[in-house]
Amino acid sequence: MPGGNSRHTVYFPPYPIYAVRAQGARIWDADGVERLDLINNYSSLIHGHNHPRIVAAIMDQAQRLLSVSMPTEQEVALAEIVCERLPAVDRLRFTNSGTEGVMLAIKAARAFTGRAKIAKIEGAYHGCDETVSVSNAPDPGRWGEACAPASVPGPGGTPHIAEDVIILPMNDVENGRKILQSHAPDLAAAILDPLPSHLGFQAATAEFVAMLREETARAGALLIFDEVYSFRLGFNGAQGALGVNPDLTALGKIIGGGLPIGAFGGRADIMEAVFDPRPGRPKMTHGGTFNANPMTMAAGTAAMTLLDRPAFDRLTGLGDRLRKGLREAVKISGAPATVRGATSMTSLFHLEAELPTYRHVVAAMEAYPQARKRAEAFFRHLLNHGVIIGASGLFVLSTALTEADIDQVCDVSLGALRAI
Ligand code: PMP
Repeated sequence: MPGGNSRHTVYFPPYPIYAVRAQGARIWDADGVERLDLINNYSSLIHGHNHPRIVAAIMDQAQRLLSVSMPTEQEVALAEIVCERLPAVDRLRFTNSGTEGVMLAIKAARAFTGRAKIAKIEGAYHGCDETVSVSNAPDPGRWGEACAPASVPGPGGTPHIAEDVIILPMNDVENGRKILQSHAPDLAAAILDPLPSHLGFQAATAEFVAMLREETARAGALLIFDEVYSFRLGFNGAQGALGVNPDLTALGKIIGGGLPIGAFGGRADIMEAVFDPRPGRPKMTHGGTFNANPMTMAAGTAAMTLLDRPAFDRLTGLGDRLRKGLREAVKISGAPATVRGATSMTSLFHLEAELPTYRHVVAAMEAYPQARKRAEAFFRHLLNHGVIIGASGLFVLSTALTEADIDQVCDVSLGALRAI
């Protein structure tokens, strides 16, 4: 394996630390070192590691059926929970990753509308499919005007794919509207992560979301929410919190209870027109050897059942405590840093600046090259003092954490901010 593992997100030089076991909010590495887990497999372990009810559901399922070339009741159970919680999801299908969930939502929008173009936000991450890799992290030399960003193919992508991707500046209502209107006849869909992690959980504003809803509807195009991450924002996802109904939603991470998962769903008329095989050949075939595998379905059902409203309230309380503690640590240390986020998602960037768009992040990193160095030193200090976070400064919580754990993280963070 080049680099010694299979996921760049978890690589760091000279080599990443290898995990051996975990329990609740703690992980032990191959050297026997214990650490608090403040990233929870980039959000997917919303109950931490090895919750007894999730483990019991997996063990029970493992004794009956691992995977099978038939549908199971387990997939119906999980689909019911997800559809009940997400106001805009009437019909659902499962995949194996968030990347696939996004890819199928996009393909469904193209098949339903008969159009090719997809609008996405500059700098927003939606997995590693080619369409959404366009302008995921574009080079400033190629990104064009801020008011009309160029479509820059991702590494390994082609200009041909980029031609069908339209790039919008985040939270820029006026220019976003103009761009969407100029492509209206060809527009299949606009896709939005309402709380992009790569922008430090900088939320889409209500006005921007309203503009996307309005312009996609006016164009006869679809609005897709990528809730792979943001479903953990609250009991009814980001769409519930924003009070906006997207036409399609892509899902992943927390709905699998810690096992590999993705899903996509939305309006009954769209999902049925594209995928229902009963009237004859569907517009699009959707296969996948491990789609809705019973192990993941059982784990996901157990996890989502545990994730009731009180669990969300508790998570939000822990998130508020963390943000307050980190802001205090920033103040006491006098370090240049900004804390953002909502509910169980928090980011700490080593800059005192508003970073509303991808371009602001890039410009700030160029102006303050020490910010990147500080972020790395902060991550390593935490790692060497018993706390694992996302390397770019992300803290993503689980219900396994306690207030005492959060206070410990804030103490270690203060030590880090003083030391780096
Ligand atoms: N969309 C968003 C918003 C994500 O954060 C991610 C993963 N971090 C994905 C899609 C891709 O999901 P997966 O890693 O399961 O393919």
